Amino acid sequence: MTKTLLVTPGDGIGPEVMAQALRVIDWLRAHRGLEVHLEEALVGGAAIDAEGAAISAETLAKAKSADAILFGAVGGPKWDGKGFDNRPEIAILTLRKELGLFANLRPATVFAPLIDASTLKPDVVQGLDILIVRESTGGVYFGEPRGIETLADGVRRGFNTEVYDTREITRVAEVAFDLAGQRQGRLCSVEKANVMESGLLWRETVQSMAKDFPSVALSHMYADNCAMQLVRNPRQFDVIVTGNLFGDLLSDLASMLTGSLGMLPSATLGATDAHGKRPALYEPIHGSAPDIAGKGLANPLAQILSLAMLLRYSLGRPADADRVERAVVAALEQGARTADLGGRLTTHEMGDAVLQQLERV
Ligand code: NAD
Repeated sequence: MTKTLLVTPGDGIGPEVMAQALRVIDWLRAHRGLEVHLEEALVGGAAIDAEGAAISAETLAKAKSADAILFGAVGGPKWDGKGFDNRPEIAILTLRKELGLFANLRPATVFAPLIDASTLKPDVVQGLDILIVRESTGGVYFGEPRGIETLADGVRRGFNTEVYDTREITRVAEVAFDLAGQRQGRLCSVEKANVMESGLLWRETVQSMAKDFPSVALSHMYADNCAMQLVRNPRQFDVIVTGNLFGDLLSDLASMLTGSLGMLPSATLGATDAHGKRPALYEPIHGSAPDIAGKGLANPLAQILSLAMLLRYSLGRPADADRVERAVVAALEQGARTADLGGRLTTHEMGDAVLQQLERV
């Protein structure tokens, strides 16, 4: 059955890098029998300008009925100071909330031709391939009570609440067990069970699920140790599952092991419904890069690799996903580099380099 993708290029370099991902989709349609129906919609600042809101009700409805969303990036100085309720970023926050996108997948992969871009020694990061699964709709960023209050003696007090229930832990851990089963079969669950009750419940809940995933070797680690281990010996990890706060910090740390923002894709998944459909949004981790927007300098590889994740997780086309990823590596091996990687190729020329390799790999 033909699947529907909602394509939302967004602002800044978003449309520039998305154009290259769309060329890859065209290639897959022509050469690999990919059948997809594409819809396109404005989001972010572009939608504020044209439609009055960062995401219109019509676009949200399209997002809900699509099989997956391929998102560019939103934001930029033009819309800074527009008020908290009408920021471009509302588009992504609304999509996460309305579609129940609770599992954020952030791969940290070191591409051999770019090994010198990492700040760590090549022998530490060579062959690195980690997937961090971060719970993204709960925990301390959303827990109640929260606020800032002034006590009787005039001292001010700020507070947030770290809270997780077994339903939230189970659904994100299920995603992580599944993915570990499709990879090297190792899952490390990360919390602070030594000092936080929510962490203890997290550990007990994940542990109780292990018997249902006999092919996955489960381990547990405290978050502070995990941060240290990611720098000391990152290759020990396959899949890491963790809550919102620790996932925020650890996924940023892990992404920097790979050395380049323009190379990193992400996915955010929701729960599978009764018809087997799972809402999903795919986007590069970088922003709209207003400093280079419109200059043809942006690296499109993170957007193209986000498409590869979409092929794997939403379209059930792992062979095509592998092919796209191999084409990216092959293009880099041939020396293709945009400015952020120390080269001179334009965004379009980098797209050309990947398309050429798609024919060969
Ligand atoms: P950024 O990721 O846009 O840019 C940081 C630096 O990396 C810049 O120097 C930029 O030129 C460079 N860079 C980023 N992506 C690149 C690419 N593909 N190729 C080459 N160079 C690249 O982060 P920022 O500057 O902090 O934010 C800019 C805007 O993007 C802000 O409005 C911010 O709110 C927004 N933002 C949006 C998202 C999103 O849409 N999910 C994420 C992060 C930031």
